[in-house]
Amino acid sequence: MEKTEKKKKHTDFSAHDNPGKEPPEGVSRRQFVAGAAVAAGLIGSGIIFPKELRAVEIPKKWDKTTDVVIAGTGYSGLAAAIEAHDAGSQVIIIEKSRVIGGNSVIASGAYNAVDPARQSKQGIEDSLDLHYRQTIEGGDNKGDPEKVRFFVENALGGLQWLERMGVEFEPKVYAVVGALWPRSHDPAEKGRGGAIIKALKAQVDKRKIPIMMPCTLTGIVREKPLDGDVLGIETEFKGKKLYIKAKKAVILATGGFAADVSMRSKYVPQLDANVPTTNVPTATGESIIYSEDIGADVVGMDYIQLLVACNFYTKQYGSLANLGIDSAIFLNTEGARFVAEDQRRDVLAESVLKQPGKVLLWVADDRCQKRFNPKITEDIIAKGLAFRADTLEDLAKVLKEKFNVPVDKFMQSVKIYNESAAKGVDRDFGKKQENLKPLQQPPFWASPTQAGVHHTMGGLRTKGTTGEILNRRGKVIPRF
Ligand SMILES: Cc1cc2nc3c(=O)[nH]c(=O)nc-3n(C[C@H](O)[C@H](O)[C@H](O)COP(=O)(O)OP(=O)(O)OC[C@H]3O[C@@H](n4cnc5c(N)ncnc54)[C@H](O)[C@@H]3O)c2cc1C
Repeated sequence: MEKTEKKKKHTDFSAHDNPGKEPPEGVSRRQFVAGAAVAAGLIGSGIIFPKELRAVEIPKKWDKTTDVVIAGTGYSGLAAAIEAHDAGSQVIIIEKSRVIGGNSVIASGAYNAVDPARQSKQGIEDSLDLHYRQTIEGGDNKGDPEKVRFFVENALGGLQWLERMGVEFEPKVYAVVGALWPRSHDPAEKGRGGAIIKALKAQVDKRKIPIMMPCTLTGIVREKPLDGDVLGIETEFKGKKLYIKAKKAVILATGGFAADVSMRSKYVPQLDANVPTTNVPTATGESIIYSEDIGADVVGMDYIQLLVACNFYTKQYGSLANLGIDSAIFLNTEGARFVAEDQRRDVLAESVLKQPGKVLLWVADDRCQKRFNPKITEDIIAKGLAFRADTLEDLAKVLKEKFNVPVDKFMQSVKIYNESAAKGVDRDFGKKQENLKPLQQPPFWASPTQAGVHHTMGGLRTKGTTGEILNRRGKVIPRF
C-alpha cells in the first residue's frame, strides 16, 4: 500500500504553495501577476493561481503499480511499450477508446525513408541531406534542426525495426500525396496502417503487456503540483477513478487534437466546426492540457495541417484521394486542373479551398488506385461516395450528372495532361517529371474530396531527441 501526504484532490494552486510570491515553475511572471491582480481585485486579499491549472493530489492508495505506464495504443504507444519491456521494464498500457490503434489504425501507412536498396532498383537518386533539406524547407525552416536530422537519419532504422516486428513492406517506393520525393513505403498487407498496428499488437501480446481499455487518462500525478518527479497517472476506468503508479516513467502517446474543435480553433480560429477532420473521434488532445497542469511547455500548437482526404459526402476520411498522385489529376467542378498534384499539402489544401464549393475531383487511372485497400474501395464505390467507369468518357458522364462538370472540358483537361505526360513536362502547373504519368489504364476512378484537419503538429516541448518533456523554463520534468 502506498503512503499519501495529502487528502484533497483536484485543488487549484493557492498562495500557501508559494509563500515567497515568486511565480511557481511553469507559470510565467505575466500570468502570475495577472492572476494575482485579478484575485486581489475580486477578493481583496491573497493570491489565487489561474483556475485552469488543475493539480492531481497524490492518492492515498495506488490501485496499480508498474515501472512504466503508457497512454495510447497508436504506433508510438505500442512501439514504446515493446521497447520499454525489452529494456527490462514492467509496462501497463491504457487506451481510452474501445478499439486499439487511434489514428494509426486508419492511416494509410505510407512511411518515408531514404532507402538505397529499394530506391536504386527504381533508378531514384536520394540522400539523407536531400530528405533533411526537403523536411526543413517543407516546414518553412521552422522545424528543430536537431530533431529533423535525427528523424531523417533514423527513418530507415525505424522501418527495419518494423520489419523485425513482422511488418512487410512493398518492394517499390513512391511519393504519397504531399510528399516531395519518391521515398514513401507502403506496408504490403492491405489495411496499411492497420497492418502495422496488427503486427505491433501481436508483439505486445507475445510479451504479455496488459492493455487496459477503455481507460482514460484524466490527470498526471507529480510530487508537487509544479515540482519534483512524475509519480503516476489518474485515470477513469469502469466509471471510477483509478490510480496507476509508475516507478520509472509515464509516457504519453495520446496523439493530437484534430477532433477537438475548441482546442484546434483556440490556436487557429478558422478551423471551426465547419471544417471536417480525417481523424478518429478520440484525437482530442486533453493529455496536453493535463501536462500543462503540471508545468509542461507546448510548442507549435498553431501548426495544423489540412489534407485533401475527406469525402465530399460524409465529411470524414474516406476519399480515395490520398494515396497516389502520379497517374492522377486534380480537377475542380468546372473540369479544370488548378494545381500540380505533387505540391506540398498546405499548397494543395489552400488551392482546393479556393475552388467552387471547395471541392476537388481526384481522377485517376487504375494503377494509381491500386494502392488503396480493395475492400474499402469497394465499400466506398458501393455507397456511391466515389465513382468508377471503364472509359474516361463514361467517367465524364458520371461527373456531369453528379457535379455538372462540363464533359468537353473534362476530356480536354485529361487530353492536355496526357500530352504533357508523354513529353515529360507539365508546362501548366509544373508537376515533376517522375510523377507525371498518363491516365490510360482502365478502369478510371473519380473521388470527390475536401480538405480536412489532418495533423496537429504541435504538442509538448521535448528535450533534444530524448523525448523527455520540458517545463516552461526548459527543465526536464523528471520521469515524464
Ligand atoms: C486518415 C489518416 C491517414 C494517415 N496516413 C498517414 C500515412 O500514410 N503516413 C504517415 O506517416 N502518417 C499518416 N497519418 C498520420 C499518422 O497516422 C499519425 O501521425 C500517427 O498515427 C500518430 O500515432 P500516435 O501513436 O502518435 O497517435 P494515435 O495513433 O492517434 O494514437 C493515440 C491513441 O491515444 C488514445 N488516447 C487519446 N487520449 C487519451 C487519453 N486521455 N487516455 C487514454 N488514451 C488516449 C487514442 O484513443 C489513440 O488510440 C495519417 C493520419 C490519418 C488520420
